[in-house]
Amino acid sequence: MLKIENLEVYYGLIRAVKGINFEIKAGDIVSLIGSNGAGKTSTLQSIVNDVKKSGTIIFNDLDISQHKTHKIVKEGISLVPEGRRVFQNLTIEENLRMGAFNNDELYEEYQERMFKLFPRLIDKKGQLGGTMSGGEQQMLAIARALMSSPKLLMLDEPSLGLAPKIIGELFEIILKLKEEGITILLVEQNAYAALEISDYSYVLENGEIALEGTGTDLLKSNDIKAKYLGA
Ligand code: ATP
Repeated sequence: MLKIENLEVYYGLIRAVKGINFEIKAGDIVSLIGSNGAGKTSTLQSIVNDVKKSGTIIFNDLDISQHKTHKIVKEGISLVPEGRRVFQNLTIEENLRMGAFNNDELYEEYQERMFKLFPRLIDKKGQLGGTMSGGEQQMLAIARALMSSPKLLMLDEPSLGLAPKIIGELFEIILKLKEEGITILLVEQNAYAALEISDYSYVLENGEIALEGTGTDLLKSNDIKAKYLGA
């Protein structure tokens, strides 16, 4: 579904991503793990946003490397950015409406689906985004991204700063989305949780892919245990 070839991302003279290659098969959960500054966020941003980059990004056989964000969203990719970034001064309903900018005719149907998937949000429809808890804001950010009916949902550090119980709920939801046929690209520092639900995973170090394998295999790797699982 997604094929990244020789991707490089630059900030001025800094090369944050140094020529990486990876693939995502339709229906899979694929994760990118790695420590702070490894280049995970830059990789996700380069797929949907206009950042300084080189290389090729192929989505469903279409080269989208030079496409504008709104066109990429229309093609079926949606990003839940790091730090959630829900519209603080808009209500939950209004946040969802914004997410459906390219999907207005299906708004009602999708809104209903989101409230089914995130029952916590129903009672708070009219509440402002900024007044919700961190976990609720994360759920809303995911629901907003789903309103454009993506085929590939990319999540940047969804578990960051959340309580363990909420993280558990969040990962259950990610698995449910997979069951519904949505392909997932997950960026996480919480390597254990990410590897547990991933079909395949890439480890980024210093802008390069240092290791890759199935979630199950990487969980057994001594290198991964030492560096990322605190073993
Ligand atoms: P984190 O989890 O901390 O976001 P990450 O793996 O997602 O880490 P990136 O945010 O992609 O890593 O950062 C990769 C490198 O690019 C780092 O060295 C970072 O300092 C640098 N970088 C990221 N954003 C910018 C920017 N706007 N300007 C300059 N350098 C940047």
